[in-house]
Amino acid sequence: MKRLVIMGPAGAGKGTLADMIKNEFRLAHIATGNMFRTEIAEKSDLGVAAKEYIDGGKLVPDELTIAMVMKRMSKDDCVNGYLLDGFPRTLKQAEALSAALAAKGEDIQMAINLCVDPEVLGKRIEGRRICTSCDAIYHMTNTPPQEEGICDRCGSRLVQRSDDTREQLAVRLKEYEEVTKPVLAYYQKLGIVIDIDASATPDEVWQEVEGHLAGLE
Ligand code: AMP
Repeated sequence: MKRLVIMGPAGAGKGTLADMIKNEFRLAHIATGNMFRTEIAEKSDLGVAAKEYIDGGKLVPDELTIAMVMKRMSKDDCVNGYLLDGFPRTLKQAEALSAALAAKGEDIQMAINLCVDPEVLGKRIEGRRICTSCDAIYHMTNTPPQEEGICDRCGSRLVQRSDDTREQLAVRLKEYEEVTKPVLAYYQKLGIVIDIDASATPDEVWQEVEGHLAGLE
């Protein structure tokens, strides 16, 4: 049962790599950004509360985020392993996750840290388009869909995320440095971080990560 976390700043390729890992190892993919975007589209109470933070490039408060993840992790599809993508992003979230897992005699086995030059992040963010229905991720020049604006996988419309602008990216990177970097240090102390050069293509990144994961139970 694999229990994994993917970390890295906005545009590092967390979602793309998560897709590849979950398909290969049949893990539940728990992507907090996707979950919030679904809540926003559904105009749920959580979505309404989260929207103002997300549109400003800020993190959603811990209480809301932790409660959402804990509920998701109690679902049946998590019993064979899961991949947390975009969570934890604060020390408080990391500690809440560790405590919840420890209560079940479990822990996170590996934190995959995607490292990318900030210049590359800007180009990736500006060209990124996502599917409104299945969360597939494209890049207008690097990995374009076959038909412009349409998802190859499900035929739904592709959109640019409201927070994928240069201005919002600057706020998100600052939040990453100040608030999320301590999570990396927390997992480094536990000796479970693997650093991956994620400026390469998705296939090259996958080659590097696959070897590390194959060795886990
Ligand atoms: P992402 O799709 O992972 O880039 O997340 C998009 C946005 O959702 C982030 O910029 C935050 O505003 C919010 N978000 C996602 N995950 C978290 C989290 N673990 N804690 C707080 N806010 C989050």
